[in-house]
Amino acid sequence: MASGTMGFQTVRETNLGVVLRTVRELAPCSRAEVASATGLNKTTVSSLVTDLMSRGLVRETGRNSRQRVGRPGVLLALDDSSIAAVGLEVNVDYLSVVAVDLLQRELINRHVPFDARSAGAEESVRRIAHTLGTTLTDPALGGRTPVGVSVAVPALIDSPSGTVTHAPNLGWRNLPLRARLLELLREEGIEGVPVRVDNDANLGAVAEYRVGSFAGTADLAYLTGEVGIGAGLLTGGEPLRGAGGFAGEVGHLPLLPDGPECACGGRGCLEALAGIDAILREAVPDRVPDRPLSGGDIAALVEVAVERAGEGDATTVDALERAGGWLGRGLAVLINITNPGLVVLGGYFVPLGPWLLPPCRREAVATAFAPQAGGCRIELSSLGLSAAARGGATAMIHSLDAGLLPLPEPRVPTAPA
Ligand SMILES: [Zn+2]
Repeated sequence: MASGTMGFQTVRETNLGVVLRTVRELAPCSRAEVASATGLNKTTVSSLVTDLMSRGLVRETGRNSRQRVGRPGVLLALDDSSIAAVGLEVNVDYLSVVAVDLLQRELINRHVPFDARSAGAEESVRRIAHTLGTTLTDPALGGRTPVGVSVAVPALIDSPSGTVTHAPNLGWRNLPLRARLLELLREEGIEGVPVRVDNDANLGAVAEYRVGSFAGTADLAYLTGEVGIGAGLLTGGEPLRGAGGFAGEVGHLPLLPDGPECACGGRGCLEALAGIDAILREAVPDRVPDRPLSGGDIAALVEVAVERAGEGDATTVDALERAGGWLGRGLAVLINITNPGLVVLGGYFVPLGPWLLPPCRREAVATAFAPQAGGCRIELSSLGLSAAARGGATAMIHSLDAGLLPLPEPRVPTAPA
């Protein structure tokens, strides 16, 4: 299984994942409880638990005091000391890196300003590989074995091959990112760690669903608030990817004929009206340089916009309210098609949220077909600029449970059950 994304599995591998997932849901729990929850017989569960313990994924955690009669059962929990998963997001002006343990606790969360747009594809790929290499050998992992790396890119992605098909705001086309990263990591002496490449908005949606403030909302849309605007869509808790994996490109909804030019070559797209680049040009026009905004510019200009809006500066407030209105119109289209229960606005939309959100909600309700936008709530993310990286790391951990990622090898021979 070269890709680490899918493959044929034995029944035993499938069952190891089932038991791992059940212990995650029920812990602390006994082997007998795992057996009754999964429908597997007790002997099989004991053997699978022994196997998972040898791989450092499950541990025993004391005795069951709830049990009144008979021999008290030993309780099981996830072992958080053995493995880690890493998520990295590359965006126009930063790299974000998150590592989590088996319990989804953050071990590393770093934000690195990086001007990916000016750096170009080759230098960016090298920088990503170097950052991954540093993270995978970081003492903050506490010696845990990395089980996988997820790389989020604001782009159309061919996930099976890990190729970036088109990233308009980065200027990348047909970049075999996974293959290049595996090659560069090998040069750094790191081999055998599966690498996946996914769209930043899809992974942001995973993060919101798994660990965000509104976790568990099964029908949700996550909107990235970067130079581009992408949407990650979950319906019934499952990602909606579309036939070619390109679903959710709300940034290129053509909202205003003959509107401002968009990086895609079109005009009047949502992100040309309400992407962070477009917002800053209108909100703090005297501070925006007469060239494409570089990595360093964006975060600083967002701060200026927040400061001026807070002081009630009319130019800034008007611009933010206009952008919020366009955002609401774009969301109305999304709401009409997918009927989400929740839309989470992420990235730079978060600091600008106090001004964007009221007109956004108003316009969504006014223009969506269903009354009150079908009951859809529009909220701000609590995960900030690390949402996609967090989502990638989280998705890797859940892939272990789902049997979609190879389990770490046993550290000691498995005792016979
Ligand atoms: Zn466009």
